[in-house]
Amino acid sequence: METVMPYTTKIPNTETHNAVRDTDARHHLHPFTDTQALNRKGARVITRAEGVHVWDSDGNQLIDGMAGLWCVNLGYGRQELINAAHEQMQVLPYYNTFFQSTHSPVTSLAQAIADITPGDLNRIFFANSGSEAIDTIIRMVRHYWTLKGKPYRKLLIARENAYHGSTLGGASLGGMPHMHGQCAPLLPGIHCIRQPYWYGEADGLSEDEFGLIRARELEEKLLEVGPDNVAAFVGEPIQGAGGVIVPPRTYWPEIQRICRKYDVLLVADEVICGFGRTGQWFGSQTFDFQPDIMSMAKGLSSGYMPISAVAVGDRIADTLIESGDDFSHGFTYSGHPVAAAVALENIRILQDERIIESVASDIGPYFQARLRDTLSEHPLCGHIEGTGLIAGLALVKDRKTRTFFDEDVGTLCRDECTNNGLIARACGNRMVLSPPLVISRTEVDEMVDRLRVALDRTYARVG
Ligand code: PLP
Repeated sequence: METVMPYTTKIPNTETHNAVRDTDARHHLHPFTDTQALNRKGARVITRAEGVHVWDSDGNQLIDGMAGLWCVNLGYGRQELINAAHEQMQVLPYYNTFFQSTHSPVTSLAQAIADITPGDLNRIFFANSGSEAIDTIIRMVRHYWTLKGKPYRKLLIARENAYHGSTLGGASLGGMPHMHGQCAPLLPGIHCIRQPYWYGEADGLSEDEFGLIRARELEEKLLEVGPDNVAAFVGEPIQGAGGVIVPPRTYWPEIQRICRKYDVLLVADEVICGFGRTGQWFGSQTFDFQPDIMSMAKGLSSGYMPISAVAVGDRIADTLIESGDDFSHGFTYSGHPVAAAVALENIRILQDERIIESVASDIGPYFQARLRDTLSEHPLCGHIEGTGLIAGLALVKDRKTRTFFDEDVGTLCRDECTNNGLIARACGNRMVLSPPLVISRTEVDEMVDRLRVALDRTYARVG
């Protein structure tokens, strides 16, 4: 029988790290992992984190240019969040919110979310992950239309290259072909339109023209499937995992106009954009549209606890509540008191320290300018897009003709970033960054310089 590695938070020596790696190889099945690379090199063991930095077991200090998975908005090591969890655990470590139960962390958090969300998103449903929030929305909008006497309104429309999570509902709604391939047959009743990727797909049109044209594909789709059969349109304000695709300014207002015209519910998936990433609380505010329902997760607790939420507009929530019928949906940990207490403290810090204001007027513009000043003329850089503290950079073979590489240059560049002390992510042929919102100017400088070195080294290999 093998020896079981005792778990410890203090892992000081190489021998222990190697044991962690061995145990990982034997027993840990990773999500979204290149298993060939994993088998070749073993997992990278992350040992600790502070501010915008993480350390691995080889002693490397890396700037976390991705805030984990786009989630550690307040950075690592915030004592207030740790205290909030500790204190809540002592008072009430768990109770559920089923069967007419509630508790003060969950009601305070619901109130706080209702206060920061725009419009009449006054009622909040809790879950544990972005995927669960999306599945909740799929079920909720279908149920809503049944209650409204229109049970035929079941279809959902989403977009190619969107990411809405990893459950069957999320993967079906998302537009990632490799995920579809693995989980087919998909959930029925989902239709897709094309994404508003101006740099890659506009073919000479201005951004404004292109935004309108891609938004009007929604109307074409509605007319094709019958608008009365459609429950909702779902989209990320900025497509994150798709490579940080920032839509033209004309796009979302036109999508909203079309949804209103045909009485189709408008759903914003704010799992990445929410909680300050774009310089406002929510991406839908930055892109000027008012959703009927909104999903949020990640930055809601800065990733310190798993928690997600669905903010629901009055029209839908009133219908659910007044129907007198149970919404037969929920999770054991919906509104978990410890996760709720941490999320509440996270919101308080974002407010008290005026962090989102700083993303809008100081560190966000600084980051965007530094990226462009340093990298726009790089031979591998086709285009940089982003706002606030999120950005994507298209890697191209030929800048003039906007020709993309056939080979996987993104992964090469991502590995060069890691070798050079920066965690960045490659989404196909796009490099993306989404650092903690508390990053300083000096750290931005360092992050952008490390990316430049990685691009130089990548160019030396493929240019
Ligand atoms: N929606 C969006 C826009 C996301 O980016 C993600 C995750 O990256 C999800 C949903 C799924 O969230 P989770 O991984 O917490 O299930």
